[in-house]
Amino acid sequence: MPALKWGLIGASDIAATRVIGAIRASGGDTVGVFSGSADRARDFAAVHGLPNFTTELDGLLGWDIDAVYISSTNALHFEQATSALTAGKHVLCEKPLALEAGQAEAMVELAEERGLVLAANHHLPGSPLHATVRDLVAAGAIGTVLSAKIAHAVLLPERLRGWRLGKGTPGSGVILDITCHDASVLNPLLGTPVAVTALAVQQAGWNTGGQEDAAMTVIRYERDDLPPVLAQTHDSFTVGYAGTSLEVHGTEGTIRVTDAMTQDTPGQVILTTGSGSRAVDVDCSEDLYVIGLRAFIAAVDGTGRPAATGRDGLMALKVALAAQESANSGRTVHIN
Ligand code: NDP
Repeated sequence: MPALKWGLIGASDIAATRVIGAIRASGGDTVGVFSGSADRARDFAAVHGLPNFTTELDGLLGWDIDAVYISSTNALHFEQATSALTAGKHVLCEKPLALEAGQAEAMVELAEERGLVLAANHHLPGSPLHATVRDLVAAGAIGTVLSAKIAHAVLLPERLRGWRLGKGTPGSGVILDITCHDASVLNPLLGTPVAVTALAVQQAGWNTGGQEDAAMTVIRYERDDLPPVLAQTHDSFTVGYAGTSLEVHGTEGTIRVTDAMTQDTPGQVILTTGSGSRAVDVDCSEDLYVIGLRAFIAAVDGTGRPAATGRDGLMALKVALAAQESANSGRTVHIN
């Protein structure tokens, strides 16, 4: 297949630090960028060697491009993805796909109608660590899965302490930012998420935006003819030294993954059963965003599927929205 030609929607940090490099490493051509600001568009294009820049979305969609990568602020994803799909472009959209499940559903349906690829840029489901955990569970290495725990409490870098922390800013907050990623890992592992209970607080002195920056969530999963599973997540912008991890506990064993939820994954998978503990060999040498890009290209080519499909992104969003609603209301929220 010829190299994919990409338009970038959003002069963002994640595009600059991860995804432009991943597009290029996967053989793609970065044609240009759309930004809401003429100065940012021009500067971003100059810094990243992009031949084109524009402040008109229709301008970008009129370029000779096959696909767009959307990494604007969360509130813009739905409208921009819808425009891109309508213009016949494949879409790799940052998480959360949208701010409402109905919007994400409409995006998925539009992509299906048009025969286009819509993927969510969740970088973790494609990680060899998580693929290994899914394979171990599917092979029965820990028996029947009973529960899982994710520790995803990190310190938000200073340069990102903007819109994420705005109390009234649509799409802000730790739950849409991090719990959404956790759900992208737990959903394919544990079954169907059906109920969510969460508490969220504001902790950091530097968080002058007033939005919640730490959350703990419990999710109930159901599977045909098997006992329900409980999953617990700790997500935070305020914890600097914890490290991240995933634990999955079953009737016959436990899987522990260190450094499981970071962008760079030199993590380790440890399997503990009645026979003792052993490290499972996992090759973590490849960049997670390059893995995601390659899977996206294979989906466009018709030879594979995205690391997180549009539907996967929708399900992750549903869990995050239920957690947010639960944190706001103080009640358990059921997902239908
Ligand atoms: P940024 O704040 O860097 O960028 C988001 C938007 O904010 C940009 O599109 C830009 O708008 C605007 N912006 C950027 N810098 C400035 C500035 N200095 N002044 C004013 N506006 C500015 O966000 P992130 O890169 O952190 O996140 C973007 C998206 O990517 C989010 O949806 C987030 O959830 C997701 N994300 C995903 C990750 C993953 O691992 N999958 C990791 C991190 C983020 P404009 O384009 O109009 O210039």
